[in-house]
Amino acid sequence: MAPRVAIIGAGFGGLCMAIRLERAGIHTYTVFERAADLGGTWRDNSYPGAGCDIPSHLYSYSFEKYASWTRRYPEQPEILDYLHHCADKYDVRRKIRLRTEVRRAVFDGGAWQVTTSSTEGERTETFDVVVMAVGQLNRPHMPDISGMDEFEGVSFHSARWNHDHDLTGRRVAVIGTGSSAAQLVPRVAERAEHLYLFQRTPNWVIPKPDAAFGPLTRMAFRCAPGLQRAYREWIYRYAEGTLYPALAQGWSEGLLRQRALRHLRDQVPDPELRARLTPDYPPGCKRVVIDSSFYPALTRPNVSLVTDRIARVTPKGVHTAESAYEVDTIVYATGFKSTEFLVPMEVVGREGRSLGERWKDGAEAYLGISVPGFPNLFMLYGPNTNLGHNSIIFMIECQVAHIMACLPHVGASGPIEVRPEAMAAWRRQLDVAMSRMVWGAGCRSWYKTADGRITNNWPGPTTLYRRLTARPPEPAYRAVGPG
Ligand code: NAP
Repeated sequence: MAPRVAIIGAGFGGLCMAIRLERAGIHTYTVFERAADLGGTWRDNSYPGAGCDIPSHLYSYSFEKYASWTRRYPEQPEILDYLHHCADKYDVRRKIRLRTEVRRAVFDGGAWQVTTSSTEGERTETFDVVVMAVGQLNRPHMPDISGMDEFEGVSFHSARWNHDHDLTGRRVAVIGTGSSAAQLVPRVAERAEHLYLFQRTPNWVIPKPDAAFGPLTRMAFRCAPGLQRAYREWIYRYAEGTLYPALAQGWSEGLLRQRALRHLRDQVPDPELRARLTPDYPPGCKRVVIDSSFYPALTRPNVSLVTDRIARVTPKGVHTAESAYEVDTIVYATGFKSTEFLVPMEVVGREGRSLGERWKDGAEAYLGISVPGFPNLFMLYGPNTNLGHNSIIFMIECQVAHIMACLPHVGASGPIEVRPEAMAAWRRQLDVAMSRMVWGAGCRSWYKTADGRITNNWPGPTTLYRRLTARPPEPAYRAVGPG
């Protein structure tokens, strides 16, 4: 009998899982989606300028090449269109239960009891397998600045853009200078009367060689699928080649630093502004911003970079110790609660053990996919599977292939779970590989917990990850069912 599979989340991960099940002839699955539409991060992040800094042809499923990309680097509406296209083409939309939030998943010894909440109230259903596909960047992080609630203007997080609020002629404060801010600041600056950008830590920024595809190129991609394949392969290999030069300790001080400093020199003529934009930590430690419009926006007369620490928010604006900035809009481009995997869901495994408790010192999972004590529970884009140099969609496809390889074992022997020894070996290997990377160097980033444990990133080549996830599930997994 085909396993009953609950997929939680209808973003890139959840849709990929659903499509692979559908293609394997397994139709006994349900996709639960909290929001009113599919799309995950690409539904949520609709701020002006939102896009991806991984090229379009690579930031897509390997099995669904798309001839419609209009640019080298996709913008948010195009990515969302692509996801809708995939949901329709592979006929998985009918399986998505929208506006249905999973509150709890409890393993009862043989199966998972999944409790959801929707307009129809709470409901508990039984599934053999649960696939968590909620991503790493799904819960906005709001800073804890005194007075935020007293602000009399309009404020919102970059991932919850208020499209009803026209920014034309407004005085706008943007707090944060990560990838989201770098993308939205140039667009907002075109409309705002004045934009104050509050920077706590400068980022390393390198250019994004974006361009629209001309009609001939698009026609060539449409008519010659082989060309798309070759182009994708080339981008993939190129990205893979940047891993150690950009992200290994010591190495990133070479080429990446030079590249970023040259970009800064080329785009910001004022040495005083340049100095304030120059980071004092190794390149790659935080996610490098890949953008060619950010620095030019900062040289506009209606944009001010504020580097004094924010003291408080008042009803009229933002105060630092030195000055007061009167604004009518505050945009919090302050990132996500990235290290709190699966929160606020309650996940209870074998013998009543809670996943939150197991992860109190930081999330971890074998291959980023499974956790001892939690049979038949799998994750997509779980702990230590984020990349700073290549496409997450590649990683998701590896994870889905791994889960698909586990399913026949579930069918044959009942619930399976990863052995503690496999988990321990995985942790040791991860620690060794992690020590070579630059992320542990002195910087604060969304890759790590408050006490410095790197829970988000994969510290090796994606080719290695593919090899590891392609190994047969035995001997790492064991059956734990009564049989
Ligand atoms: P982020 O990189 O975590 O940046 C958050 C920003 O908010 C940082 O500048 C941070 O300063 C600042 N901040 C947080 N709390 C603050 C406080 N209390 N006071 C002042 N500043 C504060 O978040 P993000 O820009 O949304 O990007 C998150 C990730 O999403 C990216 O790294 C990337 O992986 C992904 N993303 C990708 C793209 C793309 O093109 N592919 C686009 C957007 C986002 P500190 O640096 O000092 O902490």
